[in-house]
Amino acid sequence: MTLLIVPITAPTLEQARADLLRARELGADMVELRLDHMAGLANEDFRTLRKLVGDALPILATPRAPEEGGIWDAGDSLRIRELARVAHCANLVDVELTAWERSPDVRERLLLDVFGKLRGSGPRLVLSAHDFKQRPVNLCRIVERMNEVEECEVAKIVFHARHISETFELFDLMHGNAKPVVAIAMGEAGVITRLLARKFPMAFGTFASLEKGKESAPGQVTIEEMKGLYRWDAINRGTAVYGVIGNPVAHSMSPAIHNAAFERCGVNAVYVPLLVEPAYEYFEDFLREALARPWFGLLGCSVTIPHKANALRFARNRHGEIEPLAERIGAANTLTFNGAGSVRAHNTDYAGALDALTTAMGCSRTDLRDAEVAVLGAGGAGRAIVAGLRDCGCRVIIYNRTAERAKQLADEFGCTAAPLEARVRPGTKIVVNTTSIGMHPNVGDTPLPADRLRPGMVVFDTVYNPIETRLLREAKQVGCRTVDGVAMFVNQAAAQFELWTGKPAPRELMRDVVIRRLSAT
Ligand code: NAP
Repeated sequence: MTLLIVPITAPTLEQARADLLRARELGADMVELRLDHMAGLANEDFRTLRKLVGDALPILATPRAPEEGGIWDAGDSLRIRELARVAHCANLVDVELTAWERSPDVRERLLLDVFGKLRGSGPRLVLSAHDFKQRPVNLCRIVERMNEVEECEVAKIVFHARHISETFELFDLMHGNAKPVVAIAMGEAGVITRLLARKFPMAFGTFASLEKGKESAPGQVTIEEMKGLYRWDAINRGTAVYGVIGNPVAHSMSPAIHNAAFERCGVNAVYVPLLVEPAYEYFEDFLREALARPWFGLLGCSVTIPHKANALRFARNRHGEIEPLAERIGAANTLTFNGAGSVRAHNTDYAGALDALTTAMGCSRTDLRDAEVAVLGAGGAGRAIVAGLRDCGCRVIIYNRTAERAKQLADEFGCTAAPLEARVRPGTKIVVNTTSIGMHPNVGDTPLPADRLRPGMVVFDTVYNPIETRLLREAKQVGCRTVDGVAMFVNQAAAQFELWTGKPAPRELMRDVVIRRLSAT
């Protein structure tokens, strides 16, 4: 079993007691006492902490060196002395590989002072290496050296990932290293090494913070999020991996709704954020690495800004199956993989938006024929919505900041283009905002001043954070009917869920999850 380890950096006994009890209550499998933060605690205090959690919560102890992320600027002998004084209450001790290799004297003292007196019942050895800047060039050799040390039971390698593709070497270690490993890529791009560790047979453990603000390394997720949002306890070797590829992606609601839907429907799958740099090369690189490892289990991705055109290009390059609609829109927001390298591309924004609009208006798609619609924006969402409205026979005017982009989209779908500042035409029945204007945090902005709205218009804002944008608030005041972006978001996600699992999506639950999360922000 892969352990969820919570670091404890409390400087006082009182705080350490509280943190240990909280870690146990939240379901931690192990705690890491960061001795470099706990220099003020006496030997007796460590005994107290041991007694407090008994055998239920194993303890890993480490006086982390400053060059590897610690805060105690002590030399090897002081650090070994510190380890020796807590060794009796630790199940594991972590020593940096550099310290272990520094001199035979260090090794001898460790073996004698830390392990010697307790041989048989004493702690086991973790050898570790941390790089807070980048992937170490000699990564493979570092792990080999740890593997070669007979006393070493767990090899721990941690570095800051600049790109998500750098995580795959770590997954290879979690999949097949000779000894159990803790393999973590720090930073947002590396968060999947933490979230997915439980899936891999050689992953000894990963770290989760006790709460926000108590992270001991960048990218650490709280234990509550690991277990609640990211389904840690449900993950096993056979768990399928899904995720949202985007940039930025940290505040996406997609992990929350998809993971809740997987749980409700009993699907053995987990959904994670996948931060991929904007250029196509990075997109391609990530998927190539993931799909080259069938045991990694990537079976599908949602795709968001700025990668929807990249998703289509990837599917084309792989001779995948592309839904004609996605081809016509020029963007895909859903990729499905079959585990043997084949790719399917869909666009679920189109139906998601049309269904949200027609449901709110209480009409069918055919009832929209000849309606005059103002679409604000000509980006990815705009393209899908313009295609949908044209298929319904609407007359569409595209208003956009960049005139060239509006004209190109208008020419492609037989619409008219206009500048964003232009007044909407008097006969306009429906206004759809597909720009990001008014989206959190710029909630005071609106793409259309209130004096351009008329009573009786239908105003649909695809922005869903906040649920009621300034545009919608003012539209209501003027007497318009309003449609928020949540329904479209839920519809497009539900369609993805159905494509991936073949099961009906729990739409009510998905909507509740989005509304609950948005109301909490
Ligand atoms: P995109 O491809 O980057 O397009 C962004 C659009 O917004 C472009 O038309 C852009 O105009 C315009 N824009 C951005 N900032 C602007 C500003 N300051 N002033 C004027 N125009 C501005 O993004 P997208 O994928 O289409 O997404 C756009 C929005 O749609 C997002 O904010 C998202 O909230 C919403 N959306 C919602 C859903 C849903 O399910 N509810 C799904 C997808 C998207 P230029 O062409 O001039 O750059």
